[in-house]
Amino acid sequence: MKMSKLFVQTLREFPADADVISHKLLARAGFIRKLTSGCYNYLPLMWRVLKKIENIVREEMDSAGAQELLTPFVQPKELWEESGRWEVYGKELMRLSDRHNREMCLGPTAEEVITAVARDGLKSYKQLPCNLYQIQEKFRDEVRPRYGLLRGREFIMKDAYSFDLDQEGLDKEYKNMANAYTRIFERCGLETKMVQSDSGAIGGSVSHEFMVITTTDAGENDVFYCDDCNYSANSNHAISNLPQAETDGSKFGFTEPKVIDTPNTRTIEELCEFLKIPSTIILKSLVYIVDKKHVIALIRADKQVEETKLMNAVGGIDIRIASAAEIEELMQNHGFNGIAGFIGPKGMDDVTIVADNTVKDLKNFVVGINETDKHLVGANFGKDIPEIKQYADLRLVEAGEFCPECGKPLKVTRGIEVGNIFQLGTKYSKPMNAVYLDKNGKAQPYVMGCYGIGISRTAAAAVERWHDDNGIAWPVQIAPYHVTIVPLNNNDELQMKVAKECYAKLLSAGIEAVLDDRDERPGVKFKDADLIGFPYRITVGKTIVDGNVELKTRKTNEVETVTPEKAVELVINRIKEAI
Ligand code: ATP
Ligand code: MG
Repeated sequence: MKMSKLFVQTLREFPADADVISHKLLARAGFIRKLTSGCYNYLPLMWRVLKKIENIVREEMDSAGAQELLTPFVQPKELWEESGRWEVYGKELMRLSDRHNREMCLGPTAEEVITAVARDGLKSYKQLPCNLYQIQEKFRDEVRPRYGLLRGREFIMKDAYSFDLDQEGLDKEYKNMANAYTRIFERCGLETKMVQSDSGAIGGSVSHEFMVITTTDAGENDVFYCDDCNYSANSNHAISNLPQAETDGSKFGFTEPKVIDTPNTRTIEELCEFLKIPSTIILKSLVYIVDKKHVIALIRADKQVEETKLMNAVGGIDIRIASAAEIEELMQNHGFNGIAGFIGPKGMDDVTIVADNTVKDLKNFVVGINETDKHLVGANFGKDIPEIKQYADLRLVEAGEFCPECGKPLKVTRGIEVGNIFQLGTKYSKPMNAVYLDKNGKAQPYVMGCYGIGISRTAAAAVERWHDDNGIAWPVQIAPYHVTIVPLNNNDELQMKVAKECYAKLLSAGIEAVLDDRDERPGVKFKDADLIGFPYRITVGKTIVDGNVELKTRKTNEVETVTPEKAVELVINRIKEAI
């Protein structure tokens, strides 16, 4: 490819709406252009990167025994009614109707469609196990499309679905996919952590996410991990052991239940300060709106609630913290007129109340009783405060708490989820009546798994991971081109001749090379080469009179002065080794 012909417009500035580095760099280096919110044109350079990632995914999925197919992007409502998700999938599902008023949606994922495909084709136990996958555009009307390709509305996903006879088969396939994923990301030049996670709206029980660990702002997930053993989990799933804490209020003189005045103590800090007590003897009551209903979460006051855990504990799909007005409304509906900071579980008998496991140890504790400027001290469940009906793990883990597996302190880091694997079990096959006939001729639902990879998100995650102040530093395996050859002065015959010779040799060796034949200043050529992120650059400049060129490695910025023949040879060898 000649640079003069390459379809690329690099920008001087970052686009105004870009707030993470991958979005900034991909836009500025001419890889993507926004069409509309959350939807991007993948320009030729980007498309080359995406195709490379797709091909790595294809090769690894095929060699793991999966088979590729392609299903329509528009999906009929009826299938979603069969699984029960038409009602429960929120606004992310883009619904539309055709000229006959038939309702449909743009596929955000394809459990229903592929389960129906399997149902038509996999009738006997002899045909199982089977794993079907596709690489396809998906559409999700995300609340906050942001971060460019990391969280778009239209994006490219690889989604695979496995169909097994039983749990044992699924366990085996799950491991098989986990191994394939590890290889896929490695081949994309990305180190990933496989972390336990929550299975969310897709359902099922066991699930893991593959995270690219990043120090940039783009990591949307907190990952807790242990250096001593292999434990690692997303914050929505992480658990920990807590250090010893004082949880008995009697140590602070609260031996009898008593309502006391606690003026201006709306926050836990204010209450601790006023009563001169640690927060570990306070019962904190938090109000959430889950699927439009009030839910009260109780937790020891020094800890925070993890919203996904709470949502799962009450079986909801949508959660947010209640406003002060909504809390006060709840209190009023139960005959109290306190202000929000003094909410407590007392008298809230018809409200769903879930208590975190930390609450089990509390004795003679301090708690709000729905009256402004008052608290109950020396309280106990069953006597002064109604007995708890539901306990669950609702707690957000914090760094420094202890690993649930080996007891060493946990660490936290940020990550970008590039892929995930789920054990679905019979969540889809049962309601959709997707069955096979077993050895005895009896119909059994398939035991399913599903496995996603964000192709476009992986490309963006690679930029988050591999860049510097000058631009992108693509891993060789997924770079749009491998090498650029830059003659410094187009009017210098020798420079041009050597550059063209290098270019021709590289092309004939199967290397993806770009000849920067533009009549531009060297500075401009260098800037663009660094910004676009070619893994190697061969510069043909004045030193050619001594028979030398410069070979620059983008990732390390290392420069080697060698003969043109040697530069070509080094590039060929290094690239062949890397891919
Ligand atoms: P997230 O928690 O980030 O929203 P998800 O749990 O919704 O992801 P899945 O539904 O399992 O993800 O999709 C599989 C993969 O598709 C994800 O691991 C991610 O890499 C990618 N993906 C999901 N949503 C988006 C999006 N809006 N833009 C780009 N890629 C996405
Ligand atoms: Mg999502």
